[in-house]
Formats: sequence, C-alpha cells, structure tokens
Amino acid sequence: MIPKDHPRYHSLKTRELLARYAAEGIVTLEGLTAHGRGEAFDYLIGEKTMESARQAAKVAAALLLSAERPIISVNGNTAALAADQIKDLQEASGADVEVNLFHRTKERMEKVSRHLEERGVRVLSGEPERLLPLSHDRGLCLREGIWSADVILVPLEDGDRCQALTALGRTVIVIDLNPLSRSAREATLTIVDELTRALPVITRYCREIEPHQIPSLARGFDNRLFLGDALSQICRRLEHALD
Ligand code: ATP
Repeated sequence: MIPKDHPRYHSLKTRELLARYAAEGIVTLEGLTAHGRGEAFDYLIGEKTMESARQAAKVAAALLLSAERPIISVNGNTAALAADQIKDLQEASGADVEVNLFHRTKERMEKVSRHLEERGVRVLSGEPERLLPLSHDRGLCLREGIWSADVILVPLEDGDRCQALTALGRTVIVIDLNPLSRSAREATLTIVDELTRALPVITRYCREIEPHQIPSLARGFDNRLFLGDALSQICRRLEHALD
C-alpha cells in the first residue's frame, strides 16, 4: 500500500502498475528498464510539460489531422500506461491503432491487443509482413496499417525503426523524455514529455485547433528548436540544482 501523502506517490503508483502488467506479460522486463530511463529524464525536465513540448503537441495534432492515413503505433509500455488516452486520441484524430512490439510473440501481441480493445481502442488486425528494413521484429507490420500510413505517432519508439520510417518518407512523431535518444533526433517531430502527460494535450489540440490553422502548424516547425529548448531547460535546471 503506497500512502497518498508520499512525495513520490504518482511515480510509485506508476511503477506498481507497470510491475503488475509485467507479471501479466503485457510489459516486458526490458520495458521496465526503459521506463526507468524515462523517469530519470523526467526528473531533469522538472516532471511537467514544458512550453516547447506543448507547442510540439499542437503541431502533432495538426500533423495527425492533416494526414491521409494517420496511425498510432502502440507497444507494451504504452498500452499499460495509456490505453484510455490512446482511445481518446484515436477518437479525436481519426487515427488507426496498430500494435508493434520489439519483443514480439503471438501470445503477447494478443494480450496487448485485448488489453487495448477492452478499453475501447479499435486495433487493426491482419497478417503482419516484414516490410520495414529491420533485422528485428519491429520490422513486421500490417500492409494496410503502418506500411500505408503517411503520419505515424510512435510513443516510446526505438531509434532503428524511427530511422527506417523517416527514410521511407513517413512523417514520424515521437514522444520521448530523452531529447538525446536516436528516436528523438531522427523523428520528424519530437514531443519531449512524459507519455501520459503528452497524449491528452495532443487530444485536446485535435479537438480545439481550427481547420484554417492546420496547414501552417503542420509545415512551419523546426524539430531542432524543440529539442534544443528541452536541452536548455535541462542545463538550466542542472546549473541551479543546488540553489
Ligand atoms: P533510442 O534507440 O531512440 O536511442 P533508447 O534505446 O533509449 O533510445 P528504448 O529503450 O527503446 O530507446 O526506449 C526507451 C525510451 O523511452 C527512452 O528514451 C526513455 O526516455 C523513453 N521513455 C520511457 N518511458 C517513457 C514515458 N513514460 N514517457 C515518455 N518517454 C518515456
């Protein structure tokens, strides 16, 4: 039992949730360590949504709304932490959802898909093919899903696949707390924020932005400025950490 007044209550509850989903086979042990890296970077950015991340989330909404075939690629950690928020974003953006796992087994694919569907997410199904030029199983995807998408939101992406997708000319939006990761640097657009904070912001903008705002938002951004701002914020926090 984690006491509500514990200063790290939210973080401890999240760890408890992930441990439970790891026991159920939705999250992998490797996924738990990836979460730890995320937590470390969240400390560094101050555990709240930075202004530049909010701006990036607004651009993400515009990219999803202007896409012909938007899709959200969901892995185990994303399903465990944010199934309800994925459902809301799917409704607001009209995006498809496809499950894509690094540690992929038929059983785990089914578990993650079921977990999402039980929470109202419409999950694409079909026969996966090795369409992306990757030697690991994240190269498997659906021809009518990720392969055909023009804009792909990939929360908690791995750098390899992000690079492969952008090389294929796809617009790749990443949510990653680490502005130095390969994913963050390879993506078309990076939201440097915690997954469960970032998703509702994108959803809100999908509902709020006016159609006439979409083209300029979707074209007029520089991802290096978003990454640079996140790094500056981290540097400032470190400089003043002991003030
Ligand atoms: P890359 O291959 O892109 O260089 P990596 O090896 O760190 O990065 P993974 O281990 O596949 O990539 O993914 C973990 C990434 O996800 C880390 O960069 C971590 O900061 C980030 N991350 C983990 N949990 C969260 C979360 N809840 N919200 C946002 N980002 C997160």
